[in-house]
Amino acid sequence: MAEHLPMERFAQNAAAALRNTTQRNALRAAADVFDGRRKNVLETAPEWQQWRQHARAVKNHVLAHLDHYLAEFERNATARGAVVHWAQDADVANAIVADLAAGHGNTVAVKSKSMTTEEIHLNAALADVGVEAVETDLGEWIQQLADEVPFHIVVPAIHKNRRQVAELFAEKLGTSSDADAEALTRAARDRLRDRFARAGVGISGANFLVAETGSILILENEGNARLTTSVPRMHIAVVGIEKVLPRLADLDVFLRLLPRSGTGQQLTTYQSILTGKTPVGGEGPEELHIVLLDNGRSRMLKEEVTRQSLACIRCGACLNVCPVYQQVGGHAYGSVYPGPIGAVITPQLAPLERAAELPFASSLCGACRDVCPVAIDIPQLLLHLRQQVREGDDTTRAAKPQLLERLALRAALWLLRSPRRYRSATRFWRWAEPWFGWLAHRLPPLSRWRQGRTVPRLARRDFISLWQERRRR
Ligand code: SF4
Repeated sequence: MAEHLPMERFAQNAAAALRNTTQRNALRAAADVFDGRRKNVLETAPEWQQWRQHARAVKNHVLAHLDHYLAEFERNATARGAVVHWAQDADVANAIVADLAAGHGNTVAVKSKSMTTEEIHLNAALADVGVEAVETDLGEWIQQLADEVPFHIVVPAIHKNRRQVAELFAEKLGTSSDADAEALTRAARDRLRDRFARAGVGISGANFLVAETGSILILENEGNARLTTSVPRMHIAVVGIEKVLPRLADLDVFLRLLPRSGTGQQLTTYQSILTGKTPVGGEGPEELHIVLLDNGRSRMLKEEVTRQSLACIRCGACLNVCPVYQQVGGHAYGSVYPGPIGAVITPQLAPLERAAELPFASSLCGACRDVCPVAIDIPQLLLHLRQQVREGDDTTRAAKPQLLERLALRAALWLLRSPRRYRSATRFWRWAEPWFGWLAHRLPPLSRWRQGRTVPRLARRDFISLWQERRRR
């Protein structure tokens, strides 16, 4: 069973990832494509900022009254024949799902992509009771075949190119090693259709829960979630408690925001709403179980600053723009949630001492906050968690700036305090820039620092000289 790298060793994981140039190039190219699509689709949505504020207001309201809306959800889902289970942690959730899945003598469970089930390591718990969990999202299935955990929360195999997937399929499935994308997809479809036919249980997460109707909503592009929720006779959805929305009408704004931010689509190909079990003679699961998972979420509710982490709709946009994620990739974080949102969620879900390096895995550039469709102030959360790390455990290496870093920061402070010094330094830098580039490739520790970083080039003229020239004219 695939395992995460140790999150306590983020710096070492990241250093190893930086040496993998193929992975970095593939990731960078794919992340740029997704971010490019997001920008294009947002150009056609001038109401973006209003949607964002509206969505955040809905989330703020629901998180302030979470107990009320969860109770309402349970009442309405139960009234329509679903069974709602409450799990305070991963062990309880795994025990509930494993018990249900193995209960009817099932040996195969089909799963649609769910980071929540990754978070609790559900596949291992199912294997322990003799149930094989088969991922049916193409990217997630590729990762399962490769015995790897997901690399990205929306695009699990974002770091693999077609050639690597063809080689993997050739090794595991016996297909041609130069099969094209269409042949690879057909091979995956053939294998997965067989599993759907044999599975007695389908397992998914959910993008949203609706308290008013007791419904769960799943968004996807491949149709595998629709098969997962309709072919097997039992369906189990494992969902974080923060996913509840008050009314069906609230979905409107989230259905606009999520696909645009995640994949640059106006709308995902499929939106499946499940409300209760299927009536006799209808198509769909005869049994519907919904496991509501806490697993540390209610701790985040306590403070306003950490509560905003629960507004996340897992669109993945912050990963695609993060300069750290783009270089080190998803596995380095040692958690199912990588990138900026992972750097704030994981330390709150796992013990902070284990994930203490993650809040420092950021340049605080703010790109994540700018793209977030629910306006989560991730840099503010990172600073809050950094402070907690420093107050809690002063032995954490990441929490202590290294000597060179301290000297560099002092030098920057000295320069930035005086406009005259700052201008002289930029003039000097323009002259020294080519030399620095040459040295930075050859001279340790600069060459090590330079690995994985692109130093931006200074503009040929600075703003003040351009401005003064314009005024003279
Ligand atoms: S923090 Fe915002 S941008 Fe990042 S995954 Fe969550 S909703 Fe998307």
